[in-house]
Amino acid sequence: MSTTQVTRSTFDDVMVPNYNPSAIVPVRGEGSRVWDQEGREYVDFAGGIAVTSLGHCHPAMVKALTEQGNKLWHLSNVMTNEPALRLAAKLVEATFADKVFFANSGGEANEAAFKLARKYAYDNFGPEKNEIIAFTNSFHGRTLFTVSVGGQPKYRVGFEPVPAGINHVPYGDLEALKAAISDKTCAVVMEPIQGEGGILPATVEFAKAVRELCDANNALLVFDEVQTGMGRTGALFDYMNLGVTPDILSSAKSLGGGFPIGAMLATDKVAASLNFGSHGSTYGGNALACAVAEAVLDEINRPSVLEGVKHKHQLFREGLEAINAKYHVFKTIRGKGLLIGAEVSEKYVADFKRFVTAGAEEGVMLLTASTNTLRFAPSLVIPDEDISEGLARFEKAVAKVVEELGK
Ligand SMILES: *Cc1c(COP(=O)(O)O)cnc(C)c1O
Repeated sequence: MSTTQVTRSTFDDVMVPNYNPSAIVPVRGEGSRVWDQEGREYVDFAGGIAVTSLGHCHPAMVKALTEQGNKLWHLSNVMTNEPALRLAAKLVEATFADKVFFANSGGEANEAAFKLARKYAYDNFGPEKNEIIAFTNSFHGRTLFTVSVGGQPKYRVGFEPVPAGINHVPYGDLEALKAAISDKTCAVVMEPIQGEGGILPATVEFAKAVRELCDANNALLVFDEVQTGMGRTGALFDYMNLGVTPDILSSAKSLGGGFPIGAMLATDKVAASLNFGSHGSTYGGNALACAVAEAVLDEINRPSVLEGVKHKHQLFREGLEAINAKYHVFKTIRGKGLLIGAEVSEKYVADFKRFVTAGAEEGVMLLTASTNTLRFAPSLVIPDEDISEGLARFEKAVAKVVEELGK
């Protein structure tokens, strides 16, 4: 095998088969356009799974990365560094949180969140108060603790035994939560919008009721905002839209805009339990990652960008509805800001991944969520022209699928 010429088939030769990547191998990106090895161009509606929040190679991020890259990359948590301190200060300034812990991914931010929830209850109420309640169909990452809290059994099968003390109740089912919560509950964990689960938003009433139940039972409310976070819903975090404040919040994905970083945010009172020596990460707070995330936060956390997300949501919604009026392929179109799900109608469910491959053939990168939903999670600053061009390509893909499947 030649190492100078790598192609999609190299993946099968040298990489663990836990993914089945697309036939396309992208080599370059700029804004919301991406080019593959053959020089074919795509409009990116996938955003690296809700990650590339400012598109590809945004000048502010390239500047932050190269400037920091010429200064200092990494120390250790024996020493702190300026980018980490600045980013933490800005996150504290912009949110409910008083304290920040940096990790390298969403799963790690959640791992820290769940450990802190247990530790806080242990410190303040004793070891009996250790149960975590989460929701069916939720997704919180792929570490053993996070697949256990996650509400999709398929991610746990074969990896048991998993950590104990975790219960799942149906998302949105207040009565089930009332029945499950008790003085043994240390935390309720929820995504304000279930992302991987199919772009399923919680209602304001449900989120408020969960907060009240947590308070009544001395349980912490943990919001996993790894996917909804950092501007994607038109607010910096979705808890701001809901008007419900968690005790702990996890962020990753769009926080780094494509550079690996995760963050756990907490109030002072709760954060105190992650005391000296209780948790850690070699790379957490890495200077390069924090410098990039600081640039991302500076860009996103301004009214023009957040308002722009709401405006772009409308463009997507109108475009998708127009396509649906012509081809009748979607059952519902839902979501907030630039996290949009289009659930395909019954007759397309079996072949719904064909929409994604047809999209690639027509030059638009698409994502799925759950087993029946197309997911749109583009850059938060995707130009309006790229939205209309991408939707025009998507319409061609839809027409192709409809014709092929003879419906
Ligand atoms: C993607 C995601 C995670 C996991 O993040 P990783 O960076 O892949 O570990 C956790 N929670 C939610 C809601 C996510 O969407």
